Amino acid sequence: MRTIDRRRLTIALEAELARFTAEHPRSRQLFDRAQAHLHDGVPMSWMSRWAGAFPLFVERAKGARFTDVDGRTYVDFCLGDTGAMTGHAPDAALAAIKAQLDRGITFMLPTEEALAVSDELARRFSLPSWQLAMTATDANRFVIRIARHVTGRPRVLVFNWCYHGTVDETFATLGPDGRVGPRPGNVGPPVNPAVTTRVVEFNDLAALERELAHGDVACVLAEPAMTNIGIVLPDPGFHAALRRLTRQAGTLLVIDETHTISAGPGGCTRAWGLEPDFVTLGKPIASGIPAAVYGFTGEVAARWRAATERDLADTGGIGGTLAGNALAVAAMRATLGEVLTEAAYARMIPLAERFAAGVEGVIAELGLPWIVKRLGARAEYWFRATAPRNGGEAAAAVDAELDRYMHLAALNRGILMTPFHNMALMCPATTAADVDLHTAVFRESVGAVLS
Ligand code: PMP
Repeated sequence: MRTIDRRRLTIALEAELARFTAEHPRSRQLFDRAQAHLHDGVPMSWMSRWAGAFPLFVERAKGARFTDVDGRTYVDFCLGDTGAMTGHAPDAALAAIKAQLDRGITFMLPTEEALAVSDELARRFSLPSWQLAMTATDANRFVIRIARHVTGRPRVLVFNWCYHGTVDETFATLGPDGRVGPRPGNVGPPVNPAVTTRVVEFNDLAALERELAHGDVACVLAEPAMTNIGIVLPDPGFHAALRRLTRQAGTLLVIDETHTISAGPGGCTRAWGLEPDFVTLGKPIASGIPAAVYGFTGEVAARWRAATERDLADTGGIGGTLAGNALAVAAMRATLGEVLTEAAYARMIPLAERFAAGVEGVIAELGLPWIVKRLGARAEYWFRATAPRNGGEAAAAVDAELDRYMHLAALNRGILMTPFHNMALMCPATTAADVDLHTAVFRESVGAVLS
């Protein structure tokens, strides 16, 4: 087995950093100017974590490509971390968005297109009732509140190293002693998350059963496969047991499909025949216009109605004035009807298979102890020999220096990967040539740092 030569890696990373800085003078200039009034020179603090010494500033994007302010064009496998899984500015959504802009943007009243959106969501996810939100974070927040309201229970249960947006209850991790504590780096938790949250490792059914047995868990909030600490797939039988145990405990099951919508038009819920009480989904559902949705069963709908006095419906922290605005709804309708269609997935998924096969081929050729995981149109490579079964194992496998080098080497050769792990997403406009370019760049980048 070959391994990474750490000395060569450090030298190669320095060279990639220098090349990145030299080739992006205009981005650098904007970043320097941005220091004046953007905190740390970026619109959101996490943007300072991109692999280069500064983020690329984007000039324009279309389909699977974007061009930066220095005039360089990239194949985009990050796709706004799924927000642009539709491809950038898809024509069908653009037409609907432009038409709606002329007719008004936000009314505090519904538009007819909301019916088409909820009909289509009900068909895709087999859940009868839907509500709209602005972001996946909000959809998850609202669902947690509804679950608490209808069950009368205080806590939620999440899987170790999950991510569901900036939802306070979910920034809880298991310490080495197995106790729940704040996730490292979380900013300003309102209380110790042990008060609000139970945490177990993904695929650990014994721990799940033990924690649900306390009888105080309103809902389990889960991605059907973890995607935010790399792709961690469920063991065979995991979902059937998760459903059985949550039902047994009187705990509602929330499946967050925001990233796993890569699995197919109805996410993993449809692809794997899951039976959640709630589904949440945001990011790509309106082709990049901020929008999110959550759906639930008839039983949840009835329990919610029974527990709500109409006069109090707008004081409960559910909704938001801009949620369900006419622009977002028009974009959602076009996205569901004409962009993220069955036909689009039939193109995207084979491309992700090609991506995985390409990387696997290089790994075999170079004799590396690495693997590739895939979920529908999304693929990811791991610097370890076996698939992690849970978030704890996945977090322990992170190699920050190698990650940074791989991202920068790709960027310097015209490819943007999803930051913070080694994930690639296909959109309807991605081509086989784009995927093959990645395979070639991967071979060159890895080859340069082997022992
Ligand atoms: N759920 C999942 C599974 C996510 O990956 C994310 C974002 N990465 C969110 C929710 C939150 O999405 P947003 O930041 O758009 O609110």
